[in-house]
Amino acid sequence: MHAVLERLEAALPDVPRALLLAEVRAVLAEIRLAPADIPDAAALAGQVAGRIAALRSPSLVPVINATGVVLHTNLGRAPLGDWTPISGYSNLEYDLDAGRRGRRDQHMRPLLDRLFGASAMVVNNGAAALFLALHELARGGEVIVSRGELIEIGDGFRIPEIMEHAGALLREVGATNRTRIEDYRAAITPNTRLLLSVHPSNFHISGFTARPALGELAELGREAGIPVMQDLGSGCLVDLKSAGIVEPLVSESLNSGVGVVSFSGDKLLGGPQAGFLVGSRELLERIRRNPVYRALRLDKLMIQALETTLRRLLFEQWEQIPALRMIRLSADCIRARAAALAGHLPGALVEDGESVIGGGSTPDQSVPTYLLLLKVANAARAEAALRAGKPPVIARVANDRIVIDLRTVAEEEEPALLAALQRLS
Ligand SMILES: *Cc1c(COP(=O)(O)O)cnc(C)c1O
Repeated sequence: MHAVLERLEAALPDVPRALLLAEVRAVLAEIRLAPADIPDAAALAGQVAGRIAALRSPSLVPVINATGVVLHTNLGRAPLGDWTPISGYSNLEYDLDAGRRGRRDQHMRPLLDRLFGASAMVVNNGAAALFLALHELARGGEVIVSRGELIEIGDGFRIPEIMEHAGALLREVGATNRTRIEDYRAAITPNTRLLLSVHPSNFHISGFTARPALGELAELGREAGIPVMQDLGSGCLVDLKSAGIVEPLVSESLNSGVGVVSFSGDKLLGGPQAGFLVGSRELLERIRRNPVYRALRLDKLMIQALETTLRRLLFEQWEQIPALRMIRLSADCIRARAAALAGHLPGALVEDGESVIGGGSTPDQSVPTYLLLLKVANAARAEAALRAGKPPVIARVANDRIVIDLRTVAEEEEPALLAALQRLS
């Protein structure tokens, strides 16, 4: 052990001794578990040096998303595009005009006002927005939800469980496939605090189905004096019908008369991870005063990134919001880019296909694209090699071919992608 440590200290003089010692011990402990072939001091030192090198390099790295899934949850959902984070001090909670304390939500306020024409607040993610609203509006009382909307959003995030943790009692109504406005009306008791509608963003019920229109629910809430909330999920601000995406717009939800709408910042809105609550001033003021808000509030980096996205949305600069730009890319444009790359890759084919939007939004919706198909000796091994590259390339495999969808690849990334693909053959 001593010899190993001496060797390492000489080779890696800038690494703290305690860290080297801990890594040597960890390697020795691993060897004790499998004592078959005991390495010599040089080999041991090599193993430790490898672990130190791994600790030095960042784990979160940029990747090239060649899957065509625009809002790929595993790849960070919406890409942020050009953005220079403020690394030093900022006027986060400082009013520069008055020279005294300001509020961190002042920065986005003028943009939120114009984009929504309603009261709005932002927290860390969609789940936090839903939790906070339930905690304030429904804690200690009942929330009426349709049985067809008790969904799991992903990674164990389920509506009934979040409700329980927010201290609200779930009152299920209707059936999985059919719920009527009368079902909600009949379930109202003096203990009802909220009527909740959850947009089924990641699944689809078809066939013999019924659910009340949002406007009907809003009207029932008004009659009964009970707030109505919609968990919209994706938060689409831009009409994407021309691109072939049919997703309810935030403005449609607000126009239907519901009291609060919640949605994510990094789905179809195209910004950083964030959760919006938009709606009536009275309800939003209540939610804002809830002490849990402090635990869920946005940090300065996210405020800066989100402010940038909201400004681009307000000024209709869709091209500068990468997710929107990618969704709106025409199949012809993608075909031309794929054909240009194929020209440098012997045996490559270009075929039509579909890009899915992803991100828990628009489950069965996709947009037409063109795919670059690469025949390789072993597709699984080629896919792993792409993933191990610098930068890593995430691609799909189908029918023993590597499948590349350029919809989610920025043009600046194409040279690196081409080089990675050329290395495969
Ligand atoms: C995605 C989604 C959420 C959760 O939002 P996050 O930003 O992922 O926390 C909640 N509700 C619905 C309907 C969703 O689609």
